[in-house]
Amino acid sequence: MEKDCELYKDLDRVLITRDEIAAKVRELGAQITNDFRGKKPVLVCILKGASVFFTDLIREIDLPVTLDFMAISSYGSATKTSGVVRILKDLDHDIVGKDVIVVEDIVDTGITLSYLKKILEQRGAKSLKIATLLDKPARRKIQDLHVDYVCFDIPDAFVVGYGLDYDQVYRNLPDIGVLSPRIYADN
Ligand code: 5GP
Repeated sequence: MEKDCELYKDLDRVLITRDEIAAKVRELGAQITNDFRGKKPVLVCILKGASVFFTDLIREIDLPVTLDFMAISSYGSATKTSGVVRILKDLDHDIVGKDVIVVEDIVDTGITLSYLKKILEQRGAKSLKIATLLDKPARRKIQDLHVDYVCFDIPDAFVVGYGLDYDQVYRNLPDIGVLSPRIYADN
């Protein structure tokens, strides 16, 4: 998809290009390969936002990984977190004794991830690490949430693309961009 396509007209600006993303994802894949050498980690994709990042990341990891998927509710169609987290789709396999890497799209207040971490920790995983594509450290409300792998720290702006949506749209943008506030001004 080129940058003069229709979807790009709703962006204020591109924040992270597809090339920058690809380079970072490759780097993260190599780091995980190194950190988990000799292990068979379970990679857990948090749907739907992390789906694009996840499919790229797993192909940069040179280990016998297995995959699982989970869906939790966070934002609905608004751009501010409600603090209410619900499991919409649970894991297919149990994680007892496994090395688990949770793959998220973005950590904002940290409410979603700290909740998720708590439930997964109670399920007896041997280890639990978190990998996120984006982090907005300025917005953190849960201060003791440790995120193990971060591709990019970003400023406090609402971003879409590369899996991240606004009202379920824009996930297929290959780059990450700041959504123009005029798009959500009426909500
Ligand atoms: P938290 O619980 O950390 O506040 O929120 C995490 C979730 O909020 C993410 O998984 C994502 O769904 C949503 N979110 C937070 N900031 C953004 C953003 O800038 N853009 C999009 N599309 N979603 C966001």
